[in-house]
Amino acid sequence: MIEKFFPNYCVGCGCNIGYKGFLCEDCLKKMKGPIINGEKIPFISGVSFFWRYETPMKELIKEYKFNKRYRISDFFVKCLNEIFDVLKLHEKVVVPVPTNVKTYRVRGIDTNLFILKKLKKTRDFQLRNDIIYSRNKRPQSTLKGKEREENIKNIFYINEKKLPDEIILFDDVITTGATLKECAKLLRKNGVKEIYSISLARVV
Ligand SMILES: [Zn+2]
Repeated sequence: MIEKFFPNYCVGCGCNIGYKGFLCEDCLKKMKGPIINGEKIPFISGVSFFWRYETPMKELIKEYKFNKRYRISDFFVKCLNEIFDVLKLHEKVVVPVPTNVKTYRVRGIDTNLFILKKLKKTRDFQLRNDIIYSRNKRPQSTLKGKEREENIKNIFYINEKKLPDEIILFDDVITTGATLKECAKLLRKNGVKEIYSISLARVV
């Protein structure tokens, strides 16, 4: 009934979809993921993501992160469920790439953790916050090129001394892969033997 009074538009193309959800049929069909082992990143054994960071995935992520449309996380949970099914990730340990404190204050939620918490209601895995974002570092997303490279050094530290042998890292978007690499390097240094990563999208 609510849809009658509040029209609903596709996040990808703007057409009126008039039903619950975020995308029209055409936009949905544009994403043919998940893509398994679609990238090589140092210290990571397998890199998987749902689709490329382009329309409509790009708009979905932007709306979610920058316009606080947090219900879009329902769609991301579906994407991650598909990755979990293909990779048979049952009862694994999943660690989100953390959000910078300043970004967290602006958004009011940790966008990666929020998705994983929702995902956890639908399936069995261990969710751990082992990686912490250093307080005196700036958000990577606000920087470019050389500054980004410089800022990422020692940007993270480990919260927990005893880590499992295998960890699956989660970050929403792979841009250059530098953030995931930095997290994986740190986990390796702290004794984790096998590291995989899952994401929603990869910048092309
Ligand atoms: Zn559409």
